[in-house]
Amino acid sequence: MNKKRLIIFGIGLAVTFLIVSYLRKDAPRLFHIQGQTMGTIIYNVKYVASEVDGLDAMISQELRDFNQSLSTYISDSEISRLNKTGSLTYESKFIYPVLKASKEVFDQTRGTFDPSLGPLVQAWGFGPDKNVPNPDSAKVDSLKAVIGFGRVSFDENQVSLPTNFQLDFSAIAKGYAVDVVAELLEEKGIENYMVEIGGEVRCRGRNDQDKPWALGIEDPTVQSNEQKLMAIVRLKNLSLATSGNYRNYFEKEGKIYAHIIDPRTGYTAKHNLLSASVFASDCMTADAYATAFMVLGLEYSKEIMNAQNLDAILIYRSENGIESFVSEGIRPFLEMNNAEGELK
Ligand code: AMP
Ligand code: MG
Repeated sequence: MNKKRLIIFGIGLAVTFLIVSYLRKDAPRLFHIQGQTMGTIIYNVKYVASEVDGLDAMISQELRDFNQSLSTYISDSEISRLNKTGSLTYESKFIYPVLKASKEVFDQTRGTFDPSLGPLVQAWGFGPDKNVPNPDSAKVDSLKAVIGFGRVSFDENQVSLPTNFQLDFSAIAKGYAVDVVAELLEEKGIENYMVEIGGEVRCRGRNDQDKPWALGIEDPTVQSNEQKLMAIVRLKNLSLATSGNYRNYFEKEGKIYAHIIDPRTGYTAKHNLLSASVFASDCMTADAYATAFMVLGLEYSKEIMNAQNLDAILIYRSENGIESFVSEGIRPFLEMNNAEGELK
């Protein structure tokens, strides 16, 4: 009898344990997935939902597929093959959307966002081959003949490039990858998430403290290997991308060469803007405009923000030191950051 009771008790305990673990697995909680993509870029995915089995592997696979399509660092990627042969019938789902978004931003920014800058990017040493000498003016002039995204023709199925053209989506790829991961989460029914890849972010819904996720604005005056946030913005359903000269430049003979090139001159962009953080509903658009703003400078960027109804935080150098311009739509949501530590 005692033995029977013991068995029943044992079974009861096991069933309770199974039910509790099942309920725990199903209860919405905060999950954090971290990984590396596009070489050494770190990504963070946080979501509040019930656990989705295998999501970690799905995200890394999606990012591998993304790179195999769009990375100019992979010699047999779809984009590298397009650059070699001059034409491509799309194989992956990734190329057409990025061409379409690029054309839109190219048209809206007086051609200052231009993914056909590939040859100039290479010549300035910001492409896969870093060991190139600075181009002289004759070289820059000759390369200017093989750029201009307006001359790239594409439709829903294929793209073809004029002779010697090269496409490079570095200025939009991180933002685009953020959107791709966000879409994957939405397909899995996740409604509260934050996806961040190398500083470009998209969020939706609320965090585990039932607040909108915090988007951080970096202090552009801090050295590139450190990170300090100067402000945070809490908003539901929004993307943020930042472009800034402080993040990627090289110094040669006392001169600073930014990694952003002005397609109108063929030289690296030079003005007082230190960083542009652009908000948009999708991260690919935010990323493209952020790069264009770094070419356009403060005043033209403001004009485009008004015309396109975009919000941004522009940090610039003036006679009074470092100043920032915060567009009206963002102002009510901006909190200056005093706290150190991780954002939630
Ligand atoms: P981001 O950090 O998003 O501003 O991207 C900068 C990268 O985009 C550079 O390292 C170049 O590979 C490429 N790039 C530079 N200038 C431009 C431009 N005007 N339009 C598009 N891509 C550019
Ligand atoms: Mg960009």
